[in-house]
Amino acid sequence: MVATDRIDKIDNIDKNNKLIADWEALLRTFVRPENEKAKATLIKYMEQILFELQDFLKAHVGITEEISLPELCSHFTNTKIPKNPEKKLTTAINDIVKKLAPYAVNIASPYFIGHMTSAIPFFMVHLKTIVTALNQNVNKLETSKVTSIVEKQVLAKIHRLIYNNTDSFYNIHVQNPYTTLGAFVEGGTSANFTALWVARNLCFAPKNGFKGVETEGLAAAYAAYDVKRSVILVSRRGHFSLKKAAGFLGIGNQNIIAIDVDNKQQIDLTKLQQKIKKYTKDNHTKILAVVGIAGTTETGTVDPLKNIAKICKENNIYFHVDAAWGGPTLMSEKYKYLLDGIELADSVTIDGHKQFYMPIGCGMVYFKDPNYMEAVAYHSNYVNRPGSVDLGIKSIAGSREANSLVLDTALKIMGSKGYALLIDHGIETAALFADEIKKRPCFELITPPKLNILTYRICPDHYKNQLLQADSTEKWRITKKLNAINLTIQRIQREAGFSFVSRTTLIPDIESQIELIVLRSVIMNPMTDLQILKEILDEQEKIYHDRFSE
Ligand SMILES: *Cc1c(COP(=O)(O)O)cnc(C)c1O
Repeated sequence: MVATDRIDKIDNIDKNNKLIADWEALLRTFVRPENEKAKATLIKYMEQILFELQDFLKAHVGITEEISLPELCSHFTNTKIPKNPEKKLTTAINDIVKKLAPYAVNIASPYFIGHMTSAIPFFMVHLKTIVTALNQNVNKLETSKVTSIVEKQVLAKIHRLIYNNTDSFYNIHVQNPYTTLGAFVEGGTSANFTALWVARNLCFAPKNGFKGVETEGLAAAYAAYDVKRSVILVSRRGHFSLKKAAGFLGIGNQNIIAIDVDNKQQIDLTKLQQKIKKYTKDNHTKILAVVGIAGTTETGTVDPLKNIAKICKENNIYFHVDAAWGGPTLMSEKYKYLLDGIELADSVTIDGHKQFYMPIGCGMVYFKDPNYMEAVAYHSNYVNRPGSVDLGIKSIAGSREANSLVLDTALKIMGSKGYALLIDHGIETAALFADEIKKRPCFELITPPKLNILTYRICPDHYKNQLLQADSTEKWRITKKLNAINLTIQRIQREAGFSFVSRTTLIPDIESQIELIVLRSVIMNPMTDLQILKEILDEQEKIYHDRFSE
């Protein structure tokens, strides 16, 4: 039996004051504490997580603490699992808060503008804690019940945001166990994966005795359809998750065909059409899908979705939109027009842990046709019967947490208007940042922002003038020099730890084909304002003058 008076003591100690693994102590960790003292202890731990962790991270900015990676690694080399408990719960939590967290990255800092991972509203920690505390498994209705039902409802809400179908459409499908509007997955990668999985299976569907690619595999599918190869077309700015998916699905990642972009970083429609024509003529190549991007990872560019949709329709090709980043822009009355045409997509990827400001581990995929996901359904007679609400029937994942609860609650707390304020702030602050960059002689704006991502580089006026007069060999030489400068400044700034801007490589000018190293900034933290952005530029200018100015 569990001694309730000792319930606050989760750890057990032997006569020699050593921690021991002990049945009674273990049992206590499974029991809800009844007495006040035990509760107070547990609340104290939660307070530590909620407030001390935040406080600690706030004290540092950017990539925290000056410790080299090799040195840090040297502290984490013990590979033996301790036989007896090593730490008390209090110590373990304390160690994470005080000793580990300082070496984590303060992604919540408004000076941290290099990545798509940013600050989240504090209540997300509460919502995620609820999900953990309930620990429902939406794989099966028997382990989730209402949370699976909530998931279907949230899926319908976001589906409506994208496709804006009629009331009667949503009445039919919102809780329909036979149809599926989309799925929660772990991120954009698995969302893209799921979409292409569906596309592949629709493309190589069962026919004339062939049982379908999912059952018989690709070799049999190619034989049945008399093709030798299948391809997926996407702009050069496509996310590398598409390649992973093609590898995984057996299509081969070299069959993700990169279509050139124009000077605006959008997919070149003429080249897309040429490629489609080429593959259509070649009877042995099947086009599985065309992917449009709504917010490319590197530049935030939105492809001309309406035009791509039209081309796909004319050629009867599956159209997927990767809106992992840009999707939530649909909540902004002011800027949703930027995603015009997304409603024509057969499927859409949206990340929850990006611009829905959810904790890491949430992606979503949506399908125009509520029957599409039948192409990836796994029914079995004893568990997942057709028509059951077991969400595991149509997903890569088996067991899965009730993440929809976090999104559903966040939507209730913030409203689409609340999200729109965040989206608008990002887009408008990025525009102000672009103006500031253009104003400064030390910088050059490379890709102006459409959404809230832009790229620029350090390129002082005398270099700009040299570039204007240079022939192509000379251009290469100067660019190489500038590339080295930008690379170094980005690194020095990152290591100084006050702020963080990322870098990438782009070919912004199609004619010259010169590769530039550029600085990339993503404005999603509502605390990031023009003043902070100016400071970040000031710092870069200072590094330039200290290190490079002649
Ligand atoms: C982030 C991103 C992905 C991948 O999403 P993960 O959540 O990191 O797996 C895919 N596509 C685009 C456009 C993205 O921005």
